[in-house]
Amino acid sequence: MSGDATRTDVRLKPGVVTGNDYQQMIAAAKAGGYALPAVNVTSTNTANAVMEAAAKAKSDVILQLSNGGAQFFAGKGMADGFQAKVLGAVSCARHVHLLAEHYGICVAVHTDHANKGLVPWVDALVGWSERNFAEHGKPLFSSHMLDLSEEELEYNLSECERVLKRMAPLGMSLEIELGVTGGEEDGVGSDHVDNARLYTQPDEVNAAYERLHPIGHFSVAASFGNVHGVYKPGNVQLRPEILKSSQALVQEKHATSANPLNLVFHGGSGSEKEKIHEAVSYGVFKMNIDTDTQFAFSKPIGTFVSENPRAFQYQIDPDDGTPYKKLYDPRKYLRLAEEGMIDRLQEAFDDLGSKGRSVAGA
Ligand SMILES: [Zn+2]
Repeated sequence: MSGDATRTDVRLKPGVVTGNDYQQMIAAAKAGGYALPAVNVTSTNTANAVMEAAAKAKSDVILQLSNGGAQFFAGKGMADGFQAKVLGAVSCARHVHLLAEHYGICVAVHTDHANKGLVPWVDALVGWSERNFAEHGKPLFSSHMLDLSEEELEYNLSECERVLKRMAPLGMSLEIELGVTGGEEDGVGSDHVDNARLYTQPDEVNAAYERLHPIGHFSVAASFGNVHGVYKPGNVQLRPEILKSSQALVQEKHATSANPLNLVFHGGSGSEKEKIHEAVSYGVFKMNIDTDTQFAFSKPIGTFVSENPRAFQYQIDPDDGTPYKKLYDPRKYLRLAEEGMIDRLQEAFDDLGSKGRSVAGA
């Protein structure tokens, strides 16, 4: 009651939010009936575009790195690929910590799918947050994801417990996956799974709640027929009511208030708007977006190059001596790419209802 009132009135300092601030940002979204886009970034161009897009929409936003995106951020040429995945994520997080407050909105920094082989990546990043916390009183990341959905449930939950025990004292949140999201994201995932596993079982969600809720803050990427990447019409149907069943079971078993779980929607690209709204009404506070923003970033570059082909073949036109420096300057087409991504994200903020709802303002 009074809790709900403070949630919707919450005002936070702009910038990267972690700990209690991050939890308040999520609570405000759930109480306000909207969700935040979680956008994969791979570079300062895409990271800046996400912050600019959020500022333009007066929405908060979640900025996230896949392991491959983090490696790309550090540079594909770094000899030690594992180190690049760690340092690239750290570099991007520091970039966003420095700049986000100047965009005037709240930003959560997160890492995307880490399967069994990538658990050491997450462990190394938690180590960086521990050191940052010791020095500055704040972790580098708001949250990490562990995706052990391809493993046995017991292994999945015990690893999540282990990592959350380390993260909780830093005020960090853990995203877990139960059930299997179809398709693949940066090499993690599978196209060939049993159809039943594409739908998360409510009793598995309840088991996760019982194990993790006493330890710290967590969220669940539940599967309800969602598929990564370009949507392939087929035998899998989006069934958001599965999320409702999980919420209802946990609420009933543990006498909580409505929508006790923090749910995450993966593979949302190309989803029907009504299904998105329905999922948000069942406690989804975060919807990942990657495929659609990749295309929105690249398309303007394709158009620009096809409209100015000679500027990408000659510095000075051999026929008439025209200098093309202003056209091949990478800032020219990279800015067009940023603008394409910013425009596409306005649509995402609209779909999720977060436009004009930023909690930044303290
Ligand atoms: Zn995903």
